[in-house]
Amino acid sequence: MNFSQVFITATGTDVGKTFVSSLLLRTRKNWSYWKPVQTGGSRVDQNALHEIAPLAAISPLKCFEYDLPASPDQAAAAEFALSPRVADLLALSRDQENLLIEGAGGLLVPLNEDNETWLDFLQASRMPVVLVATSGLGTINHTLLSIEALQSRSIPILALVINGFEHRGNQRSIARFHPRIPQVIIPQLGSDTALSELDRLGEALWQKISLMRNEAQRADSWLRKDQKFVWHPYTQHKTAPRPIPVVAARGSYLYTDEGERLLDASASWWTCSIGHGHPRIAAAIRAQQAKLDHCGFGNATHQPAAELAARLIALAGPPFTKVFYSDNGSCAVEVALKMAAQTWTNRGQPERSKFLYFEGAYHGDTFGAMSVAESGGFHKAFAPYVFKGIEAPLVTSHPSRLCPKGPEELNERKAILRNLFEKNAKNLAAVIIEPWVQGASGMMFQDLEWLRYLGELCGEFKVFLILDEVFTGLGRIGDVFAFKRAGITADIVCLAKGLTGGNLPLAATLACEEIFSAFLDDDRSKALLHGHTFSGNPIACAAALASLDIYREEDIVSRARSIESSFKTWIEWNEKRLSLSAPRAVGGILAFELEVGDYFHKAAYQIPEIGRSHGLLLRTLGSTIYFVPSLMITAEELDLGLSALRQTIEDYRESQK
Ligand SMILES: *Cc1c(COP(=O)(O)O)cnc(C)c1O
Repeated sequence: MNFSQVFITATGTDVGKTFVSSLLLRTRKNWSYWKPVQTGGSRVDQNALHEIAPLAAISPLKCFEYDLPASPDQAAAAEFALSPRVADLLALSRDQENLLIEGAGGLLVPLNEDNETWLDFLQASRMPVVLVATSGLGTINHTLLSIEALQSRSIPILALVINGFEHRGNQRSIARFHPRIPQVIIPQLGSDTALSELDRLGEALWQKISLMRNEAQRADSWLRKDQKFVWHPYTQHKTAPRPIPVVAARGSYLYTDEGERLLDASASWWTCSIGHGHPRIAAAIRAQQAKLDHCGFGNATHQPAAELAARLIALAGPPFTKVFYSDNGSCAVEVALKMAAQTWTNRGQPERSKFLYFEGAYHGDTFGAMSVAESGGFHKAFAPYVFKGIEAPLVTSHPSRLCPKGPEELNERKAILRNLFEKNAKNLAAVIIEPWVQGASGMMFQDLEWLRYLGELCGEFKVFLILDEVFTGLGRIGDVFAFKRAGITADIVCLAKGLTGGNLPLAATLACEEIFSAFLDDDRSKALLHGHTFSGNPIACAAALASLDIYREEDIVSRARSIESSFKTWIEWNEKRLSLSAPRAVGGILAFELEVGDYFHKAAYQIPEIGRSHGLLLRTLGSTIYFVPSLMITAEELDLGLSALRQTIEDYRESQK
């Protein structure tokens, strides 16, 4: 949180921001004043300021000035001038101590034609605000709306200044809604007001401000509570560096408590497909919570879950006909395994109980999911407890630790796979694979001919194929599903990560009719006796529906394809220059290693740290570096992110010399 800057905003124009600023500056000679955006009659503002605070220092920072009295986006367009951008305002104001910044107009005034507003600036800068309102008619509504907007982005409000004749009724109504926001009343002043009265009012306001600042600062100690009380996932707490304190997110970026804006280059664990804080999803979540927040899904149902199931089935196409809900990827996989296993016991073929999975596979951290995954790494401690299936080698499209010669091994490994099918098919419940890209094992891309061959074998030997598309599904791969782009089909598909656009936990397991019908029986014990308390949670389903609307309207699939081509261009330019090994890209996934086959752990620590200094939040997978942004990332943001990635690798190379 930045406490050496204060932002003055108001419920509208001509409410008295400059007047309040000048009151504050009257008694604080070490503070300076900056009005970064001025439209129409800008110079009058400074005169007004100097009438009350003649010695106030005007900050030398650059301003965006327009003659037209209109919102900045319109004024800039009319004058063919550059419009203000949040990134510019941030860069200008960063590191400026004791700065009073006055906005232009109210909070949602558009700064430019990309719809950036003061709210975006405030959220990014972590700057507290003083909100100025008038005491007249319409004040309550405008004030409450402004407060709601500020609170919706966690922007601290230091004080509400009510400017004009006293209206106790209004004050009381607002206080009833927001008892914790201090109100400062500035009565109507005339030319005969004594200067000492102005000083008194200014001081009163500063007092409230510092009170609230202290309180906000105390609340900021949450990081210490984290260290004291929280057990983080995948974290060795003895040696782990301090976690990055993330306080806000918007679009492709995360904002930290230390004032950084970091490109979310791992899409918050691969979930954030449509960018953070999308207002449509926010609205859907809010509306659904107000209408129906939750109800058990065993013997009740609701519209969001039904609509979403229909949408998912339409997207997946044949042979999928049914959707089973759970709340995370691991559970979606557990459900898939149970569906396949019980299909065979229901059919009286209990010998078909084994699962075939692939080297390097990752399907989640629950016991069933661990049983069909590589046992090293994450799951070593639990090796004795899992039922192990049959592990098969795969063919990667690039040299990798799993397949050192890449596609050169195609024929040999196809033969191995056929052999495994011939020997085991009659005992197999199903085959499970992350199609196209194995995520957690290091963004291993499969050879597509090999993947299609696997599909053919499942057809030929009548073995169920489970596709774990928890990572690859819903646009990430440059199609709604990886299996569609690869041209294969399957019997079960698991979805989770991107399902709600990265907003809420929700997972779905899609099954074909053949599997569903194996559970239909007069004997109730033949039902799928599996469920989770929050199965099909209506709010999560509503978020997923809104997210699918956005997918369609924004054509996320084409966006992912164009990200892919930017990635490929980046690889062409940088493969030699940065000596990248096995660089690869598909959809919104870019990955490479820095040295072939080397597990050099130092890069795993150093790269994220260097990346952070270039404005990237990166995670690595051992020696694999990957870049997985929001699929709504703009071309400009992507350019910036990719050049930051290049600089990160260059710095790393330099540090190794
Ligand atoms: C992340 C992931 C999972 C596990 O999902 P959780 O929501 O973390 O349980 C399963 N499969 C794949 C392919 C994944 O990437």
